[in-house]
Parts: sequence; structure tokens; C-alpha cells
Amino acid sequence: MIQINQLKIKIDHTMEDLKKLIAKQLKIPETEIIEYSILKRSIDARKKNDILFVYSVEVKVPEEKKIIKRIHNPNITLGERPKYNFKATGEEKLNNRPVIVGTGPAGLFCGLMLAKNGYHPLIIDRGDDVSNRIKAVEQYWETSELNPDSNVQFGEGGAGTFSDGKLNTLVKDEYGRNLKVLEVFAEHGAPGEILYLNKPHIGTDQLRTVVKGIREEIISLGGEVRFNTCLTDIFLENGKLTGIEVNKNERLACSVLVMAIGHSARDTFELIYKKGLKLSAKSFAIGVRIEHPQFLINQNQYGAYYPKLPAADYKLTYNASTGRSIYSFCMCPGGFVVNASSEKGGIAVNGMSNHARDEANANSALIVTVTPADFPKRAEVPEVLSGVEFQRTWERKAYQTGKGNIPVQLFGDLLNNRPSVTIGHIEPNIKGKYQLADLSQCLPNYIITSLSEGIQAFDRIIPGYGDEEAVLSGVETRTSSPIRIERNEYYESNISGIYPCGEGAGYAGGITSAAMDGIKVFEAIAKRYRV
Ligand code: FAD
Repeated sequence: MIQINQLKIKIDHTMEDLKKLIAKQLKIPETEIIEYSILKRSIDARKKNDILFVYSVEVKVPEEKKIIKRIHNPNITLGERPKYNFKATGEEKLNNRPVIVGTGPAGLFCGLMLAKNGYHPLIIDRGDDVSNRIKAVEQYWETSELNPDSNVQFGEGGAGTFSDGKLNTLVKDEYGRNLKVLEVFAEHGAPGEILYLNKPHIGTDQLRTVVKGIREEIISLGGEVRFNTCLTDIFLENGKLTGIEVNKNERLACSVLVMAIGHSARDTFELIYKKGLKLSAKSFAIGVRIEHPQFLINQNQYGAYYPKLPAADYKLTYNASTGRSIYSFCMCPGGFVVNASSEKGGIAVNGMSNHARDEANANSALIVTVTPADFPKRAEVPEVLSGVEFQRTWERKAYQTGKGNIPVQLFGDLLNNRPSVTIGHIEPNIKGKYQLADLSQCLPNYIITSLSEGIQAFDRIIPGYGDEEAVLSGVETRTSSPIRIERNEYYESNISGIYPCGEGAGYAGGITSAAMDGIKVFEAIAKRYRV
């Protein structure tokens, strides 16, 4: 195959135009193209009056080597993108089926690959299946009655189910795991374009269908998926796993346990700490969500409205006088801010969108990294869990500040150090009840100062970003895991049989990288054990 990069073409082109351009680049007649497929498409919006799509394609033609030699262009090379190709080679007998805790992307993909390879896994999740989970989450947003086991963080599909559904990752993988994840999403209902878009995105609406489809495939392959089933204890003998307890009332024999528990399973973090799993405290970031009109972002990125272009996104960063940098994170074009709490008496926010990304507001987290040095040490809290306690403290303050609802403040009021008493021209688009408040009551001073400076600096990049009526919601604390569960080169923890996996264990940051980590853990199990 020949790969061509940097194929630039007008955004209103047809597929015929693209084929013509490929032939032109290869200096061959169009009829010689046997087949071609798109590897990647990104947008070049540097010139607002000439926005282009930039393609990478893979082309099959006769005499490929000769063409490469003749053309001599660094953007045209021989090669194929890596296809995922793993063979299970394990020899050790597995006495019980593997158990996976968590049906987030990490657990689901580990489970799917184990099921495809005949291991008949059992996958448990403390939350409900996606249909019932939607009811619990919507009820929470309407009534503020939280189900601590089935919410935006917990339940089928994990934390990503109620999300923006961005599927891009910075994790590079020469074994084709990234593409494998996207292919599985596409096989279960996601649009085929995710296989080549530079920033693939499916939205919460499509994710809900995809995760259900993956679960059904696991079951059809002989796996079992149990919802409303919480891991409550782990049994060990001589440093080796022998069994687990679920829902405090059922004991299961188990010699391989994949812990894909996500970053919010605080009670489970405590459990594994008590059981002697080696953990360490890690840095994460906290801050707020900010909302602007989506047209402001589109205008800035594209200069005008183009129906062919997606709702625009942005990525911003600024080094504040506090010595900390503030940056945008998990930006949601055309989406909602959501109450993403999972603990009673606390408030945590995040962002979510549908595939169409057609809501009026753009929202993004604006966050600042906090490190273990920032976490107060208290005798009653183990040091490795001090980050969890730090998150909890600010989430509780947010709950109090918002009188049980999401505390919301306009940027101008934050700058002028006064609570907000009215909304301006930007109507908040929030799932869950909110309360106008003073965010300085529920975030450390260094965050408030960094935010004030950062938003003003971002206004110089996106004019209007520093609008005094921009809406801020707090607090964004669940940006990544506050702990890492140590694992060795075989992906096993210090306790034999336990495999830490995904975001909660500190090995992923986002849907796709968590799913890829699930595949890596599957491979580690399949290299050691036979079916
Ligand atoms: P999780 O998805 O957190 O799954 C962990 C699962 O384990 C949960 O279902 C939980 O119920 C279960 N569990 C925990 N403890 C137990 C127990 N003791 N017993 C049984 N089950 C248990 N990432 C992106 O890449 N793109 C986005 O657009 C994006 N948007 C997001 C929006 C929101 C609102 C949120 C909350 C997150 C978003 N993320 C996004 C982050 C992404 O969802 C996570 O990175 C990803 O889900 C992590 O996957 P995971 O499988 O490691 O863990």
C-alpha cells in the first residue's frame, strides 16, 4: 500500500475530487487506483477565508515501489497502518473464570477480548445497566436524590457513558490497539467516520447504544455481566488472591481479578489499601467548568458558519503568577455541564454532549494541577489516600456553597470577589440544579487567582472568552485518578492474581486510552493462562 499524507482539499469537496487529487499526487490515471481508504482527516483553519480538510490516505495501485521511486515526495511512502493481531499463548491452567470489576471502557474491552478468546469472563459493576442507569441519573438531575452506586460515574459503560464521547487519545500504540478500539465502537453502532477523524467523537447518545452492544456480544460469547454487584471484599492466602466478596453477602472463588474500577471508587480504594495493594498518591487537577456561546468559539476558529465543519473546540493554557499553569480540559463543543457527583453531600461537575454537538453553549473544564504536596496530611487518612480526601473536601464545600446544588458564578463576579445574584446573557446549559454563589468559598485561593488571570489571558486568544457574563460552575475535581495502583511488567499488582487496569489505577486518561489499557491487561492474562 502507498500512504499519502498532507492531502489538502476544500471542505466542500466530493469523494470524486479526493480520488482525483490522489491520482494527481501519484501522477497516475484515476483508473489505476485499485482502492483507497482514508486514514485520517483533520481541519486546517489557519486561513479563515480558505479552510481546508487535510487527509492521510492509504492507496492500492499496481507497481507501488516504482511509483514511490519516481515521485520522490516525503509525504508519499510505502507502508500499512498496524492491524491488531494478538494470539493467546498462555500455558498455565486457570482454575476459575477471570473476574473483571467495572464495565467502564477498561473493563468492557478487557472483558470483550477475554470473551472473544474463550475465557468466559465474569464482569461485575456496582451500578445498573445503561437503561436503568439513565433513569437514576435523570432522577438525580431533577430531584437531587443521588444513588451512590448508579450515577454519572458508576454503572454500565463507566464514567464515559454520560460524556462528550471524545475518542481521541495521545497514547501512541504500534500494535494497532487504538484502531482496534475504534473498530469495536464502529461495529457496535458508532459512525464509521471515527476510524479516520483526527478528533473522533460520538457523544453520550451513541455511547449508550455502543456499550449495550458490547455487553450483549460478551454475553453471546459465553461471558457473564452482573449489574448492581459491588466488590466488597478480597480474600488472600500467602499473598495470593483466592476469592472475592460481592454485595457483602456472596463469596466467589477467583484467581484472576481485573480492577477496572475508575477514578471515583473511593470505598474500593480504601478496601484495596487495607488489603495491602501497593498504592501511591498521584497528581490530578481541579477547577471549574466555563460556558460560552458556541458561536463565539466557531467564529474564532472558523471566522464564519460552515455546515460542513463540526462545532469548533479549543485548547488553552497559561502560566499564572501563582506558579501554576491553568489549562482547558475535556472541552465539550455544543454540550451540557453535568452534575457528575457520586457521593452524597458533595458536588462534582463535568461536561457531556450528544453526537450532534448542537447545544447553544460550549463548555470546558479550566483546571490547575495539584500534587501530593498540596494535600493536607491528617492522622486518620492514610497518606496515599490524601488526594481522595482533598477532592472530597472541596466537593463538600461546593455542596455547601451551592446549598446542595451546583454553585455557579459569573466570571465578572469572580473577578470582583462577590457572589453572583443574577445570570447574564449566557443561559447556563446545566443538567442538574444550580445555585448562584461565590466559587471562592469552594476552591483554594491559588485556583481562584489562576482562574482569574488565565481567563483574562485566554481572552487575548479568543476575544470574548473573558466575557464578564461567562458562566462558571464548580467544582471540577474528577479529572483523573488521585491514586496509582502499582503493577509490574506483567500488569500484576504486588498481590498475585490482581491486575490494576484503566483510569482508576492510573494507567489511562480518557475513554480510548482506558479501553486500550483493558486490551493490554487482557493480553497479559492471555499470555500467562490458557482457556
Ligand atoms: P470508569 O469508566 O470510571 O469505570 C469504572 C467502573 O467501575 C464504573 O462503572 C463503576 O461503577 C465500577 N466500579 C467501581 N467500583 C466498583 C466496585 N467496588 N464493584 C463493582 N464495580 C465497581 N473521556 C474521554 O476520553 N472523552 C470524553 O469526552 C470524556 N468525557 C467525560 C465526561 C464525563 C461526564 C465524565 C465523568 C468522564 C469523561 N471522560 C471522558 C473520562 C472517561 O469517562 C474516563 O476516562 C473513562 O471512563 C475511564 O474508564 P475506566 O474503565 O478506567 O473507568
